[in-house]
Amino acid sequence: MKQNKNGTWISWNENLTYNYKSLYKITSEKELQEIVKKSEKIRVFGSKQSSADIASGTATLIDITSYNKTLSFNDLEHTITVQSGLILGDLLEAIEAKNWCIPCLPDINTVTIGGALATGTHGTSGKLLCEYMTKCKIILADGSVKEITEKDELIDAVRVSLGVLGVLSEITFQCEPIYTLHIKEGPEKDTKWLPKIEERLQKHDFLRILWLPHTDKGYVITGDKIDPNTEIKEDLGPGFLKHRRSASKILYKYTHVFPWFTAIANKLLYRGFFSSTKEHKGSLYQATVTKSRGSTLELAEWTIGLDIFPTVFEELKSEINKWSNKSFIHIPMDIRFVHKDKSWLSYAYGKDIVTMGCVSRNAATADTYEAFKSIEDIFLKHGGKPHWAKRFAAKDAELSKVYEKWDDFKELRRKLDPTNKFLNPYLTEIFNEKNNN
Ligand SMILES: Cc1cc2nc3c(=O)[nH]c(=O)nc-3n(C[C@H](O)[C@H](O)[C@H](O)COP(=O)(O)OP(=O)(O)OC[C@H]3O[C@@H](n4cnc5c(N)ncnc54)[C@H](O)[C@@H]3O)c2cc1C
Repeated sequence: MKQNKNGTWISWNENLTYNYKSLYKITSEKELQEIVKKSEKIRVFGSKQSSADIASGTATLIDITSYNKTLSFNDLEHTITVQSGLILGDLLEAIEAKNWCIPCLPDINTVTIGGALATGTHGTSGKLLCEYMTKCKIILADGSVKEITEKDELIDAVRVSLGVLGVLSEITFQCEPIYTLHIKEGPEKDTKWLPKIEERLQKHDFLRILWLPHTDKGYVITGDKIDPNTEIKEDLGPGFLKHRRSASKILYKYTHVFPWFTAIANKLLYRGFFSSTKEHKGSLYQATVTKSRGSTLELAEWTIGLDIFPTVFEELKSEINKWSNKSFIHIPMDIRFVHKDKSWLSYAYGKDIVTMGCVSRNAATADTYEAFKSIEDIFLKHGGKPHWAKRFAAKDAELSKVYEKWDDFKELRRKLDPTNKFLNPYLTEIFNEKNNN
């Protein structure tokens, strides 16, 4: 095990910085147990790609990215067991080699399994990634290891738990046979795609809408399962489409000074990069997950019941289109769909939901990006929940109103971590544990 002393921890997009006393890079469960046991305050981090202040801020830190082995496959049951520091892309390559898949994936492959599970990471047209976990080992605050299976009640609390109940160690995922998706993409007016959501969710195996604020349009991506040998007319659009992210970066460069220019930039980006159609096929991972990104971002994301999404969407749209409002929003706002589950801190607890992303392409000026505030106000008003890994201002008072199991989770957290070992200042506020520190 490697130990660094008195250094500085910096998040992926450089918006969060902390000094630490000790940083351990661990490679075994035994080392993980040892460090957790002897530390007074500790956080574990993976790829540091969360915008929320959840991965650092304590005297002792564990970098889990070297705890990254694939441990075993069960060919009969289609399961894979890995260490929690494994990068998601490596897990997906390993299961694709077996002709297996996980049927709902986020649009990023560089995150660690532990980071993705802890924050309720999700894709579209399926469940949160953590819902495919059938078994895990977790290191509790006293350094002991607990194995949790689907039969244990605790699993519903642990699946999305921000690393505050303990540190995820080994994880087993249930996989499914791999399938090929026929993907079709193209622009549509808001008046066309919005009323068709429910119909499309019934009809297609994959649905994602990249909403293009200030243009009255969305870019609709559908996917249908097909026989892998089916011939399709592949059309990946003009070659310059690959420059979309660099063009956005240039056009949005001064939008923190002149926010209104965003509306013009979005219209230009729509014309250049979202006005043509595309058609292709591939596995869910190969055909829909972004493999490389030119630059860092700051992200927020809110979730809301599928039934009231159209109302919330119309309210958001009319709010940001008012010229009195400075909430001009960068392209795209990613709209995805998640099936209901039973995990206490899941966005989809008990109901099917829609998730709506909000991106600032200038990570450094994100504090002045009014859109984050407007989207939070509107979604909270309607009972929406924020993505745990992304930027939001809500704390205990607001979260207790939208999470039915909030108090149960807090009680369990206090029982498992009575000295608040796993709480940094941000999480202390989230769980309102200021007087218990
Ligand atoms: C470009 C981009 C695209 C994204 N796309 C999506 C998306 O499509 N869908 C989506 O839902 N999210 C998405 N996210 C959010 C992302 O999935 C989360 O931020 C995820 O937590 C990042 O993983 P990480 O390894 O960087 O975790 P970190 O940021 O390092 O850590 C996140 C949290 O997990 C905890 N943690 C880490 N390892 C463990 C462990 N072993 N046990 C317990 N707790 C642990 C940390 O303490 C921290 O609280 C995206 C983020 C970015 C930057």
